[in-house]
Amino acid sequence: MDIPDSGTFVPAILYAEDDRVTRDVVTLLLHNKFPDVTVYQAENGQQGLELFKTHGPDIVLTDMRMPIMDGIRMAKEIKKLNKDTRIIVATADTDTNRILETIDIGIDHYVLKPINQAKLFSVIELCINSIHLEKQLRKQGDFIRKLSHAVEQSPVSIIITDTSGKIEYVNPGFTRLTGYTPAEAVGEKPGILKSEEIPPEEYNTLWETINSGGAWRGEFRNRTKNGELYWASASVFPITDEEGKITHFIAFQEDITGKKQTEETIKQMAYYDSLTGLPNRQLFNELLHHAMAQAHRHNRLLAVLFLDLDRFKVINDTLGHPVGDQLLQAAAQRLKQCCRRERDTVARRGGDEFIILLPELEDVQDAVRVAQKIIDAFSQLFVLPDHEVFISTCIGISIFPHDGIISETLIKHADMAMYRAKEHGRNRYHLYAPSMDAQAFERLALENSLRKALQQDEFLLYYQPKVNIKTGLIVANEALVRWCHPEFGLVPPTQFIPIAEETGLIVPLGEWVLRTACARNKAWQEAGYPPMRVAVNFSPRQFQQLNLADMVEKVLHETHLEPRWLELEVTENIMLLNEENTIFTLRRLSDLGIHVSIDDFGTGYSSLAHIKRLPIHTLKIDRSFISDINSNQDDEAIATAVITLAKSLKLNVIAEGVETEAQLQLLASLNCAEMQGFLFSKPLSAEDITRLFDTVKRQDQA
Ligand code: C2E
Ligand code: MG
Ligand code: MG
Repeated sequence: MDIPDSGTFVPAILYAEDDRVTRDVVTLLLHNKFPDVTVYQAENGQQGLELFKTHGPDIVLTDMRMPIMDGIRMAKEIKKLNKDTRIIVATADTDTNRILETIDIGIDHYVLKPINQAKLFSVIELCINSIHLEKQLRKQGDFIRKLSHAVEQSPVSIIITDTSGKIEYVNPGFTRLTGYTPAEAVGEKPGILKSEEIPPEEYNTLWETINSGGAWRGEFRNRTKNGELYWASASVFPITDEEGKITHFIAFQEDITGKKQTEETIKQMAYYDSLTGLPNRQLFNELLHHAMAQAHRHNRLLAVLFLDLDRFKVINDTLGHPVGDQLLQAAAQRLKQCCRRERDTVARRGGDEFIILLPELEDVQDAVRVAQKIIDAFSQLFVLPDHEVFISTCIGISIFPHDGIISETLIKHADMAMYRAKEHGRNRYHLYAPSMDAQAFERLALENSLRKALQQDEFLLYYQPKVNIKTGLIVANEALVRWCHPEFGLVPPTQFIPIAEETGLIVPLGEWVLRTACARNKAWQEAGYPPMRVAVNFSPRQFQQLNLADMVEKVLHETHLEPRWLELEVTENIMLLNEENTIFTLRRLSDLGIHVSIDDFGTGYSSLAHIKRLPIHTLKIDRSFISDINSNQDDEAIATAVITLAKSLKLNVIAEGVETEAQLQLLASLNCAEMQGFLFSKPLSAEDITRLFDTVKRQDQA
């Protein structure tokens, strides 16, 4: 750092002399000697004073005797105006008696008249030099004052040490940052701030750099007098004397703890999931990348486990997002407990999806064991602050390098395997198999052709009767949709309804089913068959439409079917989405006179409290409880409970999936009169059902 220079100093001279010739000659001489110097000429003291006031020259050269105002008076006035002005008096021998007078004024130099050129020049040079020096000193003084003020006021901590590192000076900024007063710090070494968190080598490079005359910049983790840690951005410079010898070191430290924390937060936000604190997708991808390279190098296996929580959406929608969040946090905790090895990573992909990286595996079974451990862990109840919930998970596993050698493929395959696990039911894991790629492709093809199927009239309805075994009458016919795909043949609804739900196609498809079923039922009535209800399945997704009741009413109106001959089958899960709206819609439909049944009863999430609030007529016992009812006591108990429940709520009850005489007998003994199943009839085309009606009619007549 250089102290500022006062710059080139160009003086101005005021020259007062009443003798014109002397004045011109001396002025000429001055111009020749000092070409840059401005010379103001005055004929007498008064004129000189005026010129001084206007131009403020630094040097005044004056004759003593002059008319109007003599040189002495003028000098006196000028000194009053600026005492720093250098005054040179040209004096003749005869003036000696007046010289005494000038001493008080502070005349700087005398030159004898007639003026000796060399003498005058040397006197003027002397003046110029001294003024220059003075100006410079004044400027430097100013500068040093400013500098020390800046140092004192600076928010930056400043330390000056001698060459051995002993502190000679600290500024208030240092005290504020570290808590050490100047008295405590001076004489110590900056090592009092060391935190042990900086490796010693770091300090070595610092010393090497500054001892060799260089500047060192870097960041320190230091400790205050109270022991608190802080981050400082530091610069250390050597200070040298004129010969370039190091005399001191100066160190600047700025507190960057806040900045570091912000950086940390940003890093946290970019790499971690804010809800669970787990690594996010981004960080996971980076870790996976790295782990795959390692696995490749060491010839090891690596597993990616992809999982999501079964029916999480239902819980989230029913119990609310705060509970959903709590559940995700608890699930994250549980997953971490299942992956205890240091190098295992549990990350959140988003939503209810988690992904786990198990690097350095000996064999595939290691991954399977972790998956099983997770499934077991999830069989325990989750106790949340306000709720207790059970939730299961499905896990897909892919193995590097067998199932993919690039990270995207590995993740995609784990995802596919998870979907496969889900298809097999809840709470299970599945290893990826190459055939799944083909299946995923098939699904995509299905999704695409499903979009066209409605326009191309590829759907048709089958009907399956529901009978009352006491009266022997058909009470309703359930419409079950079928898709006749031009290439794939007959696609069962279990395969395309979920896709239709996901894509929203269920809405137009549902309306088509309803219209076709109502029209069919009306046609049967008009053909003279005894009136029966037609039952139409509605998926939860359809209940998200706000104008569902309007649509149903419109279709009934258009097909001229009386509402009492229509039955809606809905699953318990419809109540879990937007409960108020669902109840409102159901009530409107029920008020129209439409019969409402709860399908697959016993498999969903509804509680008794829910059931009681709903405007429904019938509970339909799920077929899974019927199939083993004769051998499985639990199933029998559940069926009994549903029947009792229906009776006490004054609801109808029907059993679906009745295939055997034994099932019929048992259900009948439990007082379940209505049944549906292959034992009575498989779902049949409209023509076949018509034929069945005719047969029944003939039997009755006989
Ligand atoms: P769901 O409403 O519970 O229909 C009963 C299913 O059980 C039907 O299968 C039927 O063929 C079958 N089934 C009936 N009796 C027996 C039996 O005795 N034994 C056995 N093993 N099965 C029996 P389907 O037609 O494949 O339909 C499956 C599911 O697809 C239906 O279950 C329903 O949830 C859905 N679905 C069908 N058509 C529609 C529709 O138009 N709209 C909506 N949203 N869903 C539909
Ligand atoms: Mg049904
Ligand atoms: Mg059912």
